[in-house]
Amino acid sequence: MVQNSANEIIESIAHVTGHADRALLEASLASTLYELFRADRVMIYKVFYEFKQPQCYLAIDVIENEAHFNHSGHTLGLSELNEIPGLVESIQSQEMTHTQLDNGLCYYIHPIINHLGIVSEVFCLRGNEIFCQDSLKFINGYFQIYCNYLRLLDESEHDVLTGLLNRRTFDQNLEKVLAEWHKEQDDTQAAEVQQLHRRHDKKKKGNWLAVIDIDHFKQVNDRYGHLYGDEVLLLLSNIMRESFRGYDKLFRFGGEEFVVILRDIDRAGASKALERFRTSVEKYQFPQIGRITVSIGFVRISNQPIPAQILGHADEALYYAKEHDRNRTCQFECLVASGEIEYNKEIISQDIELF
Ligand code: GH3
Ligand code: MG
Ligand code: MG
Repeated sequence: MVQNSANEIIESIAHVTGHADRALLEASLASTLYELFRADRVMIYKVFYEFKQPQCYLAIDVIENEAHFNHSGHTLGLSELNEIPGLVESIQSQEMTHTQLDNGLCYYIHPIINHLGIVSEVFCLRGNEIFCQDSLKFINGYFQIYCNYLRLLDESEHDVLTGLLNRRTFDQNLEKVLAEWHKEQDDTQAAEVQQLHRRHDKKKKGNWLAVIDIDHFKQVNDRYGHLYGDEVLLLLSNIMRESFRGYDKLFRFGGEEFVVILRDIDRAGASKALERFRTSVEKYQFPQIGRITVSIGFVRISNQPIPAQILGHADEALYYAKEHDRNRTCQFECLVASGEIEYNKEIISQDIELF
């Protein structure tokens, strides 16, 4: 049985809830659980949904008392998921599970349900000592505190009307994607030095930022009133969730403007996803209102010196779409290459090579 002093527990709660950054909070909780319950491994799986089917990837892995962040986003196949006893069951039932194997090893799986009522992550504790009834009660209580704190964090990070991420969290998310990009560049360079010819594959994929703006939305409000306008925003956010992968980041940026960060996808894939969304909106019958369209501008997230510049470039492409009949998707680099937008920095030439 795992015994902890009250002091130890209070200190650990204070430590964990001291983080407002989600990744740090999760890593801190995973490390704390590892120590408190003498686990030999604690893993956090992120869960996202493609065509309503749950997909998982390992985000944080605490092993030998050290937390490892996994940025690869590698989606686990069914056989990999089944290697963790109770994982799939726990996602499906939204309940915690605990399993003890014949060799004495225990698995405690705890799903975290987000503000939309779906499982967004799963904690997996593995160890020999974590399964007596007292320990289970204790772990459950610990997770309850964590979930309460997470709910407050969720509320501060999400837009109330649409449930998408809000403007406040955008800078933080973009910085993370940029940091991952720089790390990947360093890794690629290191691989090149070792003459591992992975450069071509790495260069093709990337991250993209798209700004989406509803066309003539003021007319919707003027004709039908704000309530119907709000309904359109809500339905549009549902179409967004259905059109993009769970791994992408979706924001309501303010008013009738939305932002998507598409991750780990090549230019053709990003363009296809955005076009798929644009045509889905175009085809959708909004109650009472009928047809709505959106204009989209997007740009590759790469080594733009200032993060605000990325948004500025996507905005320029959006502006171009608005000036040229609306209801279209325009890429900043394409517009620069064809001379529609003036920009002659060297950065762009790298991206133009990719067409
Ligand atoms: P454009 O095609 O050029 O984007 O035209 P637009 O009418 O969409 O753009 P404009 O910027 O002129 O108007 C945006 C409108 O969005 C103004 C406001 O009525 C509406 N709006 C902004 N925020 C909200 C909101 O939270 N709810 C509702 N219902 N309407 C909003
Ligand atoms: Mg608009
Ligand atoms: Mg607007």
